[in-house]
Amino acid sequence: MNPHGFPSRMTVGKMIELLGSKAGVSCGKFHYGSASGEPNGHADKVEAIRETLVRMGFSYDGKDFIYSSITGCPLQACIFMGPIYYQKLKHMVLDKMHTWGHGPKIALTRQPTEEKTRNGGLRVGKMERDCLIAYGASNLIYEQLMLSSDPFQVHVCEECGLLGHYSHKLKTRICSSCKTGDKIYTAMMPYACKLLIQELQSMNIVPRITPTEADKE
Ligand SMILES: [Zn+2]
Repeated sequence: MNPHGFPSRMTVGKMIELLGSKAGVSCGKFHYGSASGEPNGHADKVEAIRETLVRMGFSYDGKDFIYSSITGCPLQACIFMGPIYYQKLKHMVLDKMHTWGHGPKIALTRQPTEEKTRNGGLRVGKMERDCLIAYGASNLIYEQLMLSSDPFQVHVCEECGLLGHYSHKLKTRICSSCKTGDKIYTAMMPYACKLLIQELQSMNIVPRITPTEADKE
């Protein structure tokens, strides 16, 4: 037991319980593990438990003289030990550990799924993003938010700033607003961004993309 667990959880009764159960198994009787006793006074006091322990040949304070199983030498300190009931924590590292390289994507956003059960990715949320911005780790942000997530090639019309498309019939890129493919360049953006632009357009809000030289491939 970690001693740091006692002040915050206030489970001093656990120590008395341990002492009581050690006396209990050695004399063959049930002991009460209550820290504050019972109204009728049937609870075993530490003094009574100590008497039992000494009678059964143990130290009165519940500590034992231990030999090292590695060297065979006696340990320098006496160890407080005895049988105790405890509840196992449900959350185990082995059940939770999860790594991800590639995996399934959600059809709508083309972003990786979440949760271990769905073989999901490890989300870089807005707080993580804020840390990366603070560090100035722009290449890592680019990798996590684009390359490892949902990279997508779009055709952007320089004339009107809207998204164009590749026409397989005409074998060229074309802007359906300007009806030409003269000033179209390709760029990369997250598929979710392309989706947002189109969803906004469906609500009569038109985002226009103004390129810099670096945006044009
Ligand atoms: Zn256009």
